Amino acid sequence: MTSAPATGYKVPQLTINGTTVSSPDSIAVVDPSTGEPFIEVPSASVEQLDEAVVAARAAFKTWGKLSLTERQDAIRKVGEVVKANIDELAELVMREQGKPLGNAKGEIMASLRQVEYFGSIELEPEVIKDDETGRAEVRHEPIGVVGAITAWNYPVLAAMFKLVPALVAGNVMILKPSPYTPVATLRLGELLQDALPAGVFQVLAGGDELGRAFTTHADIDKIAFTGSVPTGKAIMKAAADTLKRVTLEAGGNDAGIVLEDADPQVIGKDLFWAAFSNTGQVCAALKRLYVPESKLEEYSQVMAAEAAKVVVGPGTQEGVVAGPMQNAAQLAHVQRLAADARANGADFFFEGEVPEGPGYWFPFTLVRNVSEGVALVDEEPFGPILPILTYTDLDDAIERANSTSFGLGASVWTSDPDGAVEVADRLEAGSVWINQHPVVTASIPFGGIKESGVGVEGSKYGLLAYTNIRVINLKR
Ligand code: NAD
Repeated sequence: MTSAPATGYKVPQLTINGTTVSSPDSIAVVDPSTGEPFIEVPSASVEQLDEAVVAARAAFKTWGKLSLTERQDAIRKVGEVVKANIDELAELVMREQGKPLGNAKGEIMASLRQVEYFGSIELEPEVIKDDETGRAEVRHEPIGVVGAITAWNYPVLAAMFKLVPALVAGNVMILKPSPYTPVATLRLGELLQDALPAGVFQVLAGGDELGRAFTTHADIDKIAFTGSVPTGKAIMKAAADTLKRVTLEAGGNDAGIVLEDADPQVIGKDLFWAAFSNTGQVCAALKRLYVPESKLEEYSQVMAAEAAKVVVGPGTQEGVVAGPMQNAAQLAHVQRLAADARANGADFFFEGEVPEGPGYWFPFTLVRNVSEGVALVDEEPFGPILPILTYTDLDDAIERANSTSFGLGASVWTSDPDGAVEVADRLEAGSVWINQHPVVTASIPFGGIKESGVGVEGSKYGLLAYTNIRVINLKR
């Protein structure tokens, strides 16, 4: 059974068929700033997933038949509930994810933009032909039951990125948050029980096994996933047996190329935060920075000056701008990459300060004298460490930036943004930003090419990913 947390939080439960449900199994959720569990939440069984799928199927019969306007009215209610509970949700995100409270609030606020955008989007049928010989109309119809599976870096944002367009398109959703950060998402499920009909949005916490059960379930029609590349591949394989639709938002190892004409004093701060927001735990963070060799020293200095301003500590603490890493496994991964780069002769020219004692602390770290072939450059760190690489020939830099199986984001930095489009055109990534990195909003599609994903979220394209095309074709 789930036990009350020492810290006095109300323990959020599973949401199945519109009600709060417990489970004999539980997940101990760790506060990453202490390394100690602070709450235990129920972990759903496969039988509870079956119950949720039955409830979802029943709910879909009605929800899928509502008009777009009716569903958008309901989604606006979802937005109101989230807004009214922003303090509680942000507090839970801070505790389980580790980010400072202000950033946790920012995450929830950002999630509300999904509601604004999809709350007024149009999804009209398209008439392809209408003449004396006949009429052909394309309809975008809901797929059915969507199983959503999310990661631990932005738990509420990732949930809302999926929930809002999926429901607006007429689907129902069962969501499994990461076992590292299930708390705020479970609470979201509870808070929305009155805003939505039973079975339309259900939340089941659980480990990877429960995720696997989603992907093989015969009555789940689509998997919407955010997480790592290996898990994305496993999901695609598992989904093949039932030909589920998949949208996979996977990992990245984004390159940023600084052109000769860029001014370090102008772009230094933005470059730094492109890499280090959310303690570097951002899918489309800047993870490999290419600067002209002649300017390495200048960029090193600007970046180190920005890094020196960062106060890393527990999210509860006044003045803290960045938190710990979220979990021990991710910390160990980054420690391994750092040790390997050091052994390969890299220059760790800036290493910040972190609190002493327990917690998943890794200092904000800037590295140079490192290149492709070293794991820190070739793999996705997903933590607060950035390798700065140099180039003398732009074509060579572009080729090196593209020499990866990842293809999520990339950026070009310059004093001539319009002129940089030509360089941007040559970078192999789902999004290429100029003088910014990353920018992910409700109205612009976002997704990876190559092994960084399948499909996009955001915009009308993200909405269409939650639909099947059906054609009504009549002969006159
Ligand atoms: P992960 O792949 O380990 O886990 C993500 C989710 O998948 C969790 O809920 C987990 O329980 C579940 N899962 C694990 N194995 C599964 C399986 N075989 N079948 C079904 N579900 C399974 O990823 P993570 O460590 O939680 O997240 C970090 C990764 O996520 C990074 O690579 C990061 O780049 C990526 N990410 C991508 C985006 C994006 O939009 N592209 C956004 C955020 C994070």
